[in-house]
Amino acid sequence: MSRGLEYLSLQEIIRLRMKTVENYDSVIIGAGPAGCSAATALAMHGRRVLLVEREKFPRYHIGESMIPFTYPPLERIGMIPKLRQSSFMKKYSVQFVSPSGRASQPFYFFNRYDRETVAQSWQVLRSEFDQMMLNNAREHGVTVWEESEVTELLQDGVGTYYGVRVKSREYGEVEVRSPVTVDATGREAIAATRNAWRRGDPKLNKVAVWTYYEGAKRDTGIDEGGTTVAFIPDKGWFWYIPQHNNRVSVGVVADGKYLTREGLKDPEAIFQREIGQNKWIQDHLSTGRVCDQYWLTAEYTFRSEYCADRGLVLVGDAVGFLDPVFSSGMMIALKTGVAAADAIHAALQAGDVSPERFTEYGRVTRQSIENMRKLVYAFYDPNISFKTITDQFPDLANDLTDCLSGDVNKDFTRMFEAFSHYTPIPDELPYGAPKFAAAAVAA
Ligand SMILES: Cc1cc2nc3c(=O)[nH]c(=O)nc-3n(C[C@H](O)[C@H](O)[C@H](O)COP(=O)(O)OP(=O)(O)OC[C@H]3O[C@@H](n4cnc5c(N)ncnc54)[C@H](O)[C@@H]3O)c2cc1C
Repeated sequence: MSRGLEYLSLQEIIRLRMKTVENYDSVIIGAGPAGCSAATALAMHGRRVLLVEREKFPRYHIGESMIPFTYPPLERIGMIPKLRQSSFMKKYSVQFVSPSGRASQPFYFFNRYDRETVAQSWQVLRSEFDQMMLNNAREHGVTVWEESEVTELLQDGVGTYYGVRVKSREYGEVEVRSPVTVDATGREAIAATRNAWRRGDPKLNKVAVWTYYEGAKRDTGIDEGGTTVAFIPDKGWFWYIPQHNNRVSVGVVADGKYLTREGLKDPEAIFQREIGQNKWIQDHLSTGRVCDQYWLTAEYTFRSEYCADRGLVLVGDAVGFLDPVFSSGMMIALKTGVAAADAIHAALQAGDVSPERFTEYGRVTRQSIENMRKLVYAFYDPNISFKTITDQFPDLANDLTDCLSGDVNKDFTRMFEAFSHYTPIPDELPYGAPKFAAAAVAA
């Protein structure tokens, strides 16, 4: 017997009014580098993909310096020719500067890798780069909904994820059903946050304050686009990232207690005071003027306890975010995006999207993050410098370079053993396996 409208629950009325979309193999939440690379790689496999993004692009985002091993995933999704034609600064090197202003020799990636490919990366303006990635996804057949926020992850009675609820400016409230949902929501990490899988890292609980300068000094020739990491006391550091249009992205990262000393809270006051802590930064900014607002973020390092569940996969920052000192975020976002796409395609082919299908994806992702995390811990330990290690163990210099460049899925046991003479190497955290295979990682 059919009931009248007055007998329906509020949820049932919403469901009746809501449109349902069912014709996608995968719905991806978030169109940052992780979401776009996953979407494009899946579309290249012939999959029907819906990419749902809350913002209207172009939109601002931090995370502008790429490391060499962003190259392979970018090549895979067809972005390299577009980057070659772009105005983004080419980045060939990194240099380190002491608080007194003394700069090291730039470290050129082409001393280790092929100069025409991996050894050359870019300093990007994320509003432009992310727009290019989104256009590229569309060109490969991905359907994109901008200004569409995912408000709910849908799960059936036994916990299998079967899609998302979306509030879209253009389409209204829509329920999208699909066999695989990909969480690429960045540090908001919708799946980890809502499932209480989010685990902080108290040792890497830093604060970053940054802005942009126009007309600041920059080197010439192949050094023009190099990244500079300039130290301040207490293992704090500045990034100095030359961009196109005569802009430089410049930010300071340190413990919150250090940055807010003397009661300072205002980001501009903190930033302007810290400039005085490094002579090179002071000198390089002296010819420029601030051309943007001051930005601040805190407490950003975290991991998700799981990388996948039934019908759900996490990629990029949503699976884990690490302190940005080695610019590893984009590499991990792009790499996990493409790797997840391959695993999802294989799972769909097998007609089985159970968490076990993502065990290898979880292993590789976890290894990437853990190796980088050990280096980040060592970086913040005042008892050690990478120079000490390479002076004492010259045969480990290539391992160090590989890890810092993002070639992270290798066995670095010897290198970390050498580090352990100077600094405790953190135990690997038992996070990052798919939900039902977690015991295998913890063992
Ligand atoms: C201070 C700082 C400096 C950094 N510097 C560097 C650097 O130099 N180099 C580097 O490689 N990395 C850097 N990073 C890291 C880098 O920003 C990230 O690792 C990278 O952006 C991760 O990409 P992603 O695609 O996972 O997430 P994001 O780029 O954050 O993209 C997530 C997208 O999801 C969308 N979204 C979120 N929630 C929803 C929802 N509910 N519905 C729909 N859409 C949603 C967001 O609008 C966003 O567009 C830095 C980070 C910080 C904090």
